[in-house]
Amino acid sequence: MTRRFRPFVILAMSLGCVSAPARIEQSASQPWRGQGVVHLDKSPYAKLRSVPIRAVRMQDGFWGRRRKVTIEKSIPSIRALIEEHGYADNFRRLSKSKKVERKGPVFADTDPYKWIEAVGVFLQSGDQPQLRQWAEEWIDEIVAIQEPGGYLNTNFVGEKASQRLIPETMEWGHELYSLGHMLQAAIAYYRATGNRKLLDAGIKFADYLARDFGPDKKPLLAGHPEVEMALVELYRTTGERRYLELAGYLLNGDKRLDRPAHRIVYTFSGTPFTARTRLQGHAVRAMYACSGATDYYLETGDRQYWGTLERLWQDMLNGKMYVTGGLGSRWDGESFGASYELPNSRAYAETCAAIGSFMWNWRMLAATGDARFTDVMERALYNAINVGMSLDGTLYCYANPLESSGKSDPNWHSKDGTVRNPWYDVLCCPPNIQRTLGALPGYLYSTSKDGIYAHFFESSDLDWRLEDGTGLKITQKTGYPWEGNVDFTLNPERPGEFTLYLRIPGWAAGAKVSANGQAVNGAVEPGKYLALRRRWQAGDRVRLELDMTPQLVASHPLVLENAGRVAVQRGPLVYCLERTDQPGVRSLQDVALAPGGGPGKEFRTEFRAGLLGGVTVLKHRGTVKEGALSDQPLYRRVLTGGGAEAGTRHSSRPAELTFIPYYAWANREPSPMRVWIPYDTGR
Ligand SMILES: [Zn+2]
Repeated sequence: MTRRFRPFVILAMSLGCVSAPARIEQSASQPWRGQGVVHLDKSPYAKLRSVPIRAVRMQDGFWGRRRKVTIEKSIPSIRALIEEHGYADNFRRLSKSKKVERKGPVFADTDPYKWIEAVGVFLQSGDQPQLRQWAEEWIDEIVAIQEPGGYLNTNFVGEKASQRLIPETMEWGHELYSLGHMLQAAIAYYRATGNRKLLDAGIKFADYLARDFGPDKKPLLAGHPEVEMALVELYRTTGERRYLELAGYLLNGDKRLDRPAHRIVYTFSGTPFTARTRLQGHAVRAMYACSGATDYYLETGDRQYWGTLERLWQDMLNGKMYVTGGLGSRWDGESFGASYELPNSRAYAETCAAIGSFMWNWRMLAATGDARFTDVMERALYNAINVGMSLDGTLYCYANPLESSGKSDPNWHSKDGTVRNPWYDVLCCPPNIQRTLGALPGYLYSTSKDGIYAHFFESSDLDWRLEDGTGLKITQKTGYPWEGNVDFTLNPERPGEFTLYLRIPGWAAGAKVSANGQAVNGAVEPGKYLALRRRWQAGDRVRLELDMTPQLVASHPLVLENAGRVAVQRGPLVYCLERTDQPGVRSLQDVALAPGGGPGKEFRTEFRAGLLGGVTVLKHRGTVKEGALSDQPLYRRVLTGGGAEAGTRHSSRPAELTFIPYYAWANREPSPMRVWIPYDTGR
């Protein structure tokens, strides 16, 4: 097929555009070149529009380096493991090019799909011939097994074909979940290269569903939400409204499918989305459903949807989110707990749930331009998402506890209880991290009718345009998150008036902003976008100065495990103690913080280039109990009234404690870890 060679030509041209900073044109013949991670250019209820990934080039900063590890180590190693475990052979088995048994869970098809999506988003930043070749080999093999009617799945074939898309199967079969990931991979790959091969296959499958299923046709259930946001993105990509309608139908549930209440809770599907009042059930399903529902709102403006989304978001923020941005406190059902049920060592906080929150909040931000959503994204990104992949890009967490003995009990993810592993039979998290980091350049900025929003801080070069068509380049220079200064240089194509909306993070009290050396007075408010409206011209400079003094964070008293404890945060990073860094401390259970002297005096910051890929550590003079608390019996009598309280008093000695960023834990020998630390008041 000649199309196979066209992408290379187009890519070679696009690479030229990146090195010689010519504008990225949104030409009618190549509409894919101007489309962002979520393509909102025609979404009537989106206040913000995405900037294409290819319009932002990241430098060698914090995320630039994480992306480099992802593309050089993580993506090739996960591909090799998908091959080794036979998940790619599942397609070859059906095309008869290999005689093998089917391997992996029912949703194993999604692993090659998500890997292709990750490659697709990375290719939007520049060509990678080896990755492109691998991706296109898989795409050819996937498309080869599509049935004439459009159905494509490696599990429901042969004698299992009779189980396809019937009510009994849709609860657990993940057929639509798999299609959702196929569509997202197809769209990402199309946006990278213009290659429509996988996209056309996805469209064929979606058309089959739209034709045969729906309110007056056969009933359909998502089971594991995911396809909703993919269908809305397919609508945005093709302009075909039937995909939006199918997403709306799935979000609304079908009354004809009579399902037990606990399954409706667990699957977060099958009942009207607008009937939900709180986050419950499987956390990843809930986050994907919320993302899809927000996509639906952005296209339809349905106020009932908005009311539900706002209610669910408040429920998350006020009782169900870890300080790391992690979500889902129960292993049982990988689910949300009750409000304030946020255990530390038993936290589930699956990496995918934090990524789901990141995707959901991006859509809520697009609807409103409200920085509270960006705050949640930043918290999740730097902590609960980033911790999910090791520093060398070859090992992954599935659950992300906030306290650990260094080894978890053997469980269904990790047979020997190892915290980080190269592979999980349920592989959802690793390629999910890859696609998120690959797409990051597309999350730094958005445009609005009156200007441009700067959401995240990373040394980078933007080369895009305002919505009135004026070309605009913005350079960011920063050592964030280790340093708090961010320098922006704006270069509009011609002088003109517009607004730069500069995000002031919610944690950043005392932030200062100056424009061309002149302080901007007033209105610099944490947790808001600062609107800088003026006539901008080439070379204009804006400096943001964030106070990076470490902060102590307490939680609501109903989070019982955190009573009498604090967490330490510096900038967007949550910190932890790993015992490896505390010589002379037998157990982290015996350690306490001894705050005093006020902010800025409790911690010494020290950048260590040679530690954990280069991190700022926080040194604190805390205390450690002499008679170790960890030696106490389960229960002991407390004698009160005068004198020492027998068995409850311990002499403490000072101890020099060293905190590392939470994301970097479990990258050395197995060691206990703790985020929430007792607070020794000296009484
Ligand atoms: Zn996962």
